[in-house]
Amino acid sequence: MTNESNLIIQRGKVIDGTGDKAFIGDIKIADERIKAIGNFRKDESCSLNAEGMIIAPGFIDIHNHLDQAILAFPFAENYIMQGVTTSVVGNCGLSMAPVNYENLTDLKRYLSPFLEAEYDYDWEWTTLQEYFERVREKGTSVNIAPLVGQGTLRIAVKGFKSSWPSKEEMKKMKDLLSKSLEGGAFGISTGLVYPPGSYSSTEELIELTGILKNYGGIYTTHLRSESDDLVESVEEAIRIGKENGIPIEISHHKAEGKRNWGKINKTLKLMEEARVRGIDINCDVYPYIAGQTTITALLPPWALEGGIEEMTKRLKSLDARKKIQDEIAMIEGNDWENTIQLVGWKNIVISKCPINKKYEGRSLEEILKNRGKIDSLYEEFLNWLLEIQGEAMMLEFSMDEEDVKKVISHPLSSICSDAWVTGSSGSGNPHPRAYGTFPKVIKKYAIDSKLIMLEEAIRKMTSLPASKIGLKKRGQIKEGYYADIVIFDPNIIKDKATYEKPRQYPKGIKYVIVNGNIVVRNGKLTGLKPGKILKKNI
Ligand SMILES: [Zn+2]
Repeated sequence: MTNESNLIIQRGKVIDGTGDKAFIGDIKIADERIKAIGNFRKDESCSLNAEGMIIAPGFIDIHNHLDQAILAFPFAENYIMQGVTTSVVGNCGLSMAPVNYENLTDLKRYLSPFLEAEYDYDWEWTTLQEYFERVREKGTSVNIAPLVGQGTLRIAVKGFKSSWPSKEEMKKMKDLLSKSLEGGAFGISTGLVYPPGSYSSTEELIELTGILKNYGGIYTTHLRSESDDLVESVEEAIRIGKENGIPIEISHHKAEGKRNWGKINKTLKLMEEARVRGIDINCDVYPYIAGQTTITALLPPWALEGGIEEMTKRLKSLDARKKIQDEIAMIEGNDWENTIQLVGWKNIVISKCPINKKYEGRSLEEILKNRGKIDSLYEEFLNWLLEIQGEAMMLEFSMDEEDVKKVISHPLSSICSDAWVTGSSGSGNPHPRAYGTFPKVIKKYAIDSKLIMLEEAIRKMTSLPASKIGLKKRGQIKEGYYADIVIFDPNIIKDKATYEKPRQYPKGIKYVIVNGNIVVRNGKLTGLKPGKILKKNI
């Protein structure tokens, strides 16, 4: 029996996470940490043979949404099996706290795309620390680094109201943010396409995020536009970083809609120039040409104001309905992200529809055209949306592979999954990125196409996100660092998850070690939960 607090990994090819060249070596682990790296005498009693394998730091997913479901899936199987040992959560404006019970219904609605009905939480927490204390008590296999969601924060203070925050409301938001940061949160995230984040002006964001500097906190942002106004949205993020002197991370960077493909060249250049001016800006990217989000993102944000009930009322009122229909039928010129025009009905595929599962796996074009006599797809879409009560997830095939490659190969980008934890069954199809992201980048973009060196791919999954987010002693194979380690076979590694059959673990991930404990042994989960809730500055 291996004593896991005292382990030697022998004869592997070490890629240490810094981008430096691989070398052959042994690694000694004791008391959760990497004790030494070198050549040690073979010790059968506590050694793990890694011959022919790569030994790398455990992967750090800088853009993840597993906080909503981790209590239901504490083993985080779909991440652990990819070699992910740390997840940065609370992204795109969405976090599980702070909670104000008066606005709890609004918060639940806001988080609903990520909350399966069966989770049935009692919501007996108000702060992020209280929520993650519950996660800690239950145990997790993966380390978790929380961010505060700006949408959640705004809901706690003013629900789904679109108005500018009053002085008093701003003070409340700042107090809640400070409290979260004092409790160990790593920064704040925004989701500026989702209400209520979309209601926030640049000035509001600059004022709120001003306090991050005192805590060394980061600003991560799902931009206001990832399509027609992509460039302006990156400029907005740069301005927020510059005015407050805070680090910026552009989340899941991409250009959506054919007419916007190629804008990535401009935005990456803007980031390079901003860095020259001393602005600490990076981005992250997932290796797929489809995104996934909630179906209501197809409507103008004003139509969602007040939550789903209000949206339903609008879809039933003749005037509002006509206005919605006119706006989504407009090819260009909306001041919001009009995905229907950007990608087209046939490139939007329903991945989850709890009210009527027969729609899952079908494109909107197919669904709407099969609904009998149709005068207008727009009208039929709104009818259908009422029928499913606005509850569905969709895949949008909106990106260009060339853009994806450009962002992946850019030195400023980290790799992220933008997905969450899920079990082997469960309703609907998750995005394949939930199961395949990290092995896919290694196999497709490093080993096969050589778009990037393997050492560089690993850096983008380890030391780069660790230093960006401010994780201490993680993200490298280095003496004194936590023993978060993945051991994989470079000849076998491959993602298997597809859009049609996403719930498939990758091949070739042999061992995964979290805080010195083996959570995957010979490609199988061990059922241990050594993950920690990480806290900034604590
Ligand atoms: Zn997002």
